[in-house]
Amino acid sequence: MRTDVPKDRGATAPESPISAVSILFNGNPLAIWIYDTVTLKFLDANQSALTQYGYSREEFLELKLSDIVISGEAEEIPCRPLEGQPGPAADLVQRHRRRDGTQLNVAVRSNELHHLGRVCKLVIAEDITERWHLNAELVQMAHHDALTGLPNRTLLADRMASAMSSAQRLKHRTAIICVDLDNFKKVNDWYGHTVGDEYLKHIAGLLTSRLRGMDTVARLGGDEFAVVLGEISSADAAGLVGKMLLQALNKPALIGGYTMEPRASLGIAIYPDHGSDMHQVWRAADAAMYRAKRAGGNRFAVAGPDAGSTADDSQSLDGSLRGMLAAGGPLLHYQLQYSAQGGLRAAEAFLRLKDHCQEYIHPDRAIARAEDNGMIYPVGRCVVDAVCRQIDQWNKTMTRPLRVAVNISPMQLKRKEFAQETARSLKRWKIDPACLEMEIIERAIINVDEILPEMQELSGMGVRFTVDDFGTGYSSLQHLHRLPISTVKIDRSFVHRLCDASSSYPIVKAIIAVGHSMKMEVVAEGVEQEEQRTILSRLGCDGMQGYLLSRPVPAEELARQMAKVPADRDADHRIGPPSVRPSGAARNIRPLTA
Ligand code: C2E
Ligand code: MG
Ligand code: MG
Repeated sequence: MRTDVPKDRGATAPESPISAVSILFNGNPLAIWIYDTVTLKFLDANQSALTQYGYSREEFLELKLSDIVISGEAEEIPCRPLEGQPGPAADLVQRHRRRDGTQLNVAVRSNELHHLGRVCKLVIAEDITERWHLNAELVQMAHHDALTGLPNRTLLADRMASAMSSAQRLKHRTAIICVDLDNFKKVNDWYGHTVGDEYLKHIAGLLTSRLRGMDTVARLGGDEFAVVLGEISSADAAGLVGKMLLQALNKPALIGGYTMEPRASLGIAIYPDHGSDMHQVWRAADAAMYRAKRAGGNRFAVAGPDAGSTADDSQSLDGSLRGMLAAGGPLLHYQLQYSAQGGLRAAEAFLRLKDHCQEYIHPDRAIARAEDNGMIYPVGRCVVDAVCRQIDQWNKTMTRPLRVAVNISPMQLKRKEFAQETARSLKRWKIDPACLEMEIIERAIINVDEILPEMQELSGMGVRFTVDDFGTGYSSLQHLHRLPISTVKIDRSFVHRLCDASSSYPIVKAIIAVGHSMKMEVVAEGVEQEEQRTILSRLGCDGMQGYLLSRPVPAEELARQMAKVPADRDADHRIGPPSVRPSGAARNIRPLTA
């Protein structure tokens, strides 16, 4: 690196700052260049930059920014220091061109400086092409069914949400059709799984070929499919589509060398007639499908006029949530999470809310309702406080500290007071923040700027963050690495399909590789079978959680379970700042017996 300072100072004093800067510049494995912000001409480049772009030094110094940055992005690279933090700007990803015309994806960070008497920018340009492609592959795999190539449940939910919002905007209707094959199990039992797979592919092709481009056909798993009709005039029109699909399905077809006449039960529900949100419409279509099945199958049923009247349902949910707040705290169950060595890694808290009949309400439903009616803030605060109180109790009775993970709604993270409220609970119960882990669902990460400030504040205190249900959302790597995340948790739907015919093995392998490449720990949830455990261990998964190892239980029962985990297995249980994942750990996670 050339500088404004006379050269001989650098040469005669190797320990001087100039020499150190020059080593950092010239010897840096990352490509670094300096350009003039007025002329956009390059003024200097290190060896890594020359190698990355394939130019000699003389050639490179003849170029301008626009010669390497691909169209539309060739203006000045913005300098965006993170709020409150001096130093390198936030990442920006650009596409660059090498001398030979090939392209690369580059994460650029820039800083303004004065160089040779001019205002310049020093840019670090990291080649992330490989990571980028791996991520694109991951996103494709995570949103499509491997066997049929159709969108999966996640992508369907997304399409349904956009169909509903455009229906609302343009004042039309949209329909969902749940399709469940009749007697598919028999196809598998009589003809074998290969023919079963062909059968499913045949159904997928058939449904797709009969629908319009604006409609979506998805496979939800097993013999369940679903269709979203982008725009439909009435329930009658949706019924006609149902009838047409059934007729098409019933046509004899040669599948795996056998002539078959597929049969299915279809349930149809319309937005907004049968519900005002996605869950209501979905439930109505599902109930209609079961009605068709109970009536003998191979028919369709349209949701009844009362399907949308879930007001009672919501009122009773609100009552349960209010009751919980009035009672001074939630009932929580806890599930142990094991590290790669079979030691205790952490525990996760789950909300257990009861309805007026003392039946448990599914937490997803309770949280969705709390998000709808704004009660998520007091509910969420109360869950965090209850978890801190529980950690305090365990700390008093047990010899080893336990880190506890709590699920956090994206709405909580967007709220400005969230970090301070959490800090108050930690202080109230005198809890080391490193004992608290927060799980955020991957879908919360789409809008990084909204959640970053609270996450940074909490992470600064020592609270750890995990991305839950990883693989089901749309987060991309550049989003993840802007956030203080130490762990990714593979969604249980992938763990469940690890040993299936339409195996999720490649995606699980990719998630572990991506997680590790970003220095994050990777944990699998929903581990139910020995075989899944073995595969996950072999792939280098750092932690596991699931019914095979232990179930969610009340706090007192968890203390008993913890006491049974041998102390020598506990060696890797770390409470402390988020750290780089352990390398090549022994993989001997065992089920917790009794
Ligand atoms: P999650 O955080 O991904 O939690 C994992 C869910 O899988 C839990 O369901 C757990 O009981 C269940 N589970 C654990 N091991 C296994 C297994 O081996 N097989 C199967 N099939 N399931 C297993 P749960 O308790 O019904 O919670 C569902 C979701 O509700 C959670 O998913 C989380 O997103 C949300 N949730 C639960 N409690 C809270 C809470 O206090 N706050 C917020 N915001 N969300 C919560
Ligand atoms: Mg979780
Ligand atoms: Mg999860």
